[in-house]
Amino acid sequence: MSISRILIANRGEIALRIHRAAHEMGIETVAVHSTADADAMHVRLADHAVCIGPPAATDSYLNHAAIISAAEVSGADAIHPGYGFLSENAKFAEIVEAHDIAWIGPKPEHIRTMGDKVEAKRTAGALGIPLVPGSDGAVSDPDEAKKIAAEIGYPVIIKAASGGGGRGMKVCESEETLASLMQAAGNEAKSAFGDATVYIEKYLGNPRHIEFQVFGDGKGNAIHLGERDCSLQRRHQKVLEEAPSPIISDEERERMGEVCSKAMRDMGYRGAGTIEFLWENGEFYFIEMNTRLQVEHPVTEAITGVDLVREQIRIADGKPLSVSQGELEFRGHAIECRINAEDPFTFAPSPGEVTYYHASGGLHVRVDSGLYAGYRIPPYYDSMIAKLIVYGRTREGCIMRLRRALEEMVVEGVKTNIPLHQELLRQNDVLHGDYSIKWLEDWLEKREG
Ligand code: ADP
Repeated sequence: MSISRILIANRGEIALRIHRAAHEMGIETVAVHSTADADAMHVRLADHAVCIGPPAATDSYLNHAAIISAAEVSGADAIHPGYGFLSENAKFAEIVEAHDIAWIGPKPEHIRTMGDKVEAKRTAGALGIPLVPGSDGAVSDPDEAKKIAAEIGYPVIIKAASGGGGRGMKVCESEETLASLMQAAGNEAKSAFGDATVYIEKYLGNPRHIEFQVFGDGKGNAIHLGERDCSLQRRHQKVLEEAPSPIISDEERERMGEVCSKAMRDMGYRGAGTIEFLWENGEFYFIEMNTRLQVEHPVTEAITGVDLVREQIRIADGKPLSVSQGELEFRGHAIECRINAEDPFTFAPSPGEVTYYHASGGLHVRVDSGLYAGYRIPPYYDSMIAKLIVYGRTREGCIMRLRRALEEMVVEGVKTNIPLHQELLRQNDVLHGDYSIKWLEDWLEKREG
C-alpha cells in the first residue's frame, strides 16, 4: 500500500497544515468543504475539492456519508481527520477502514477506549501511568460516592465519563452537596453527551496542565516527544502553549516520557497521541488521553525538528517512525499563541470580513493560518483564525521574538485577541513561567476590577 491521495476531513489552518505535509511528500490532496467555506484557503490550495453540505457542521464536516462519498468519487486512498470534528470518532474510523481507505489516526479500538474517560483511566492505571486519586470507575450510588470522597478528602470533582470541552464537571466542597451535585453533573452529561455516567476524583487546587506527545507505529514501537505546558487557559480552553515546560527538568522529562512511551508500546498504539496530566507539587496525575493531533503540536515540532503530520502519514502508510528515541533532541524553546477572532477581553466572537491581513515573518517565526485579505470568517465554526509559533534558543529569547512577531501581525476588519497576548507577555508571572491553570482567569478578574 502506498498513500497517493489524502482527503482532508477538516477546515481552516489544520486543513492547510495537512495539505502542506502531504504536498511535501508528493501526495495529492482532496479538500472537503461546506458551502460556507467554498472560498477558504484550504479549498483553493488542494488538488481537488468536494462540497459536502451546508454550513452546519453536523450536515457537512461531521457527515460520515458525505465524507465517505467524497473520498470514493475523488479516488482518495486515505483520510486525515485533523483535530475536532471526526478525529476522535471510533465509529467513523471503522467505517473508513471498512472502505479500504487508510485512516490517518489511531486504531479505532484505542480511540474508543480513550474516549470513555472511565475506561481511559482504568487503562492508563493498568499501564503504569499515575492517576488522580478517585473512584475506581463510575459511581452512581451517592452513599458509595460519599465513602470514596471521605477517603480521598474534599474538595472532589465529579466528572462525566463521556465528557469533553470541560463540560459535565462539578467541584464539590463538602459531603452535604455531593448527592445533588452528582445529580446535576449526571443530568448535564446526559443532555450534552447522551450518557449520564459520572466518576469522582480529587480536586487539585492549583495544578499546571502538562501533556506528553507520544507516537506509536502500531507494531509495538513508540517514542515520546517531550511535554507541552498548556496551563494558560480560560474556561478550560488553552490560550498559549509552550515547550518545554518551564518547570520540568531533563530528568523528569526522561522519566515521565518513558512511562508514557512504554504505555504506548504495551498498547500497540498507532499514530499521534497526547497524554494529559495535571501537575502539582512535583507529581503528575493523568486526566485524559487525546487520540489525535493537537492544536498545539507545532511547539513540539519547533523544539524537535520532527514534522508530526508527516510522521502520521508515514505510519498510516505502514512505514516505521522516522526517528528513534535516542536520535531525538530537545533544543531551545517554543511558544504558540492562538489568535482568535474575538474581543480580546470580553471574548465575544467577532466573525466577518478580514479587510487587511499581514502575517509576521522573520527567523524562527511560523504562522499557520488560512487568512487572506477579503476572506470572510464564517460565524459557524471555531473562532481560531491563526496560530503564531515562535522559536528561540532560550525561553527569554523566544518571548522577545514573540513580542516582536505580535507587533508585526495585522488583522483588520474583525477584532482579535492579539492585544491579550501582548499584555500577557508583559506579566511578570508569565515571564517567569510561574502560572497554574487558574492564573489567567484570576488575572482577568483582577484586570476587570
Ligand atoms: P475535558 O475533556 O472536558 O477537557 P479534562 O479531564 O481534560 O476534561 O479536564 C479539563 C480541565 O478541567 C483540566 O485541564 C483542568 O483545568 C480541570 N480539571 C480536570 N480534572 C481536575 C481535577 N481533578 N482537579 C482540578 N482540576 C481539574
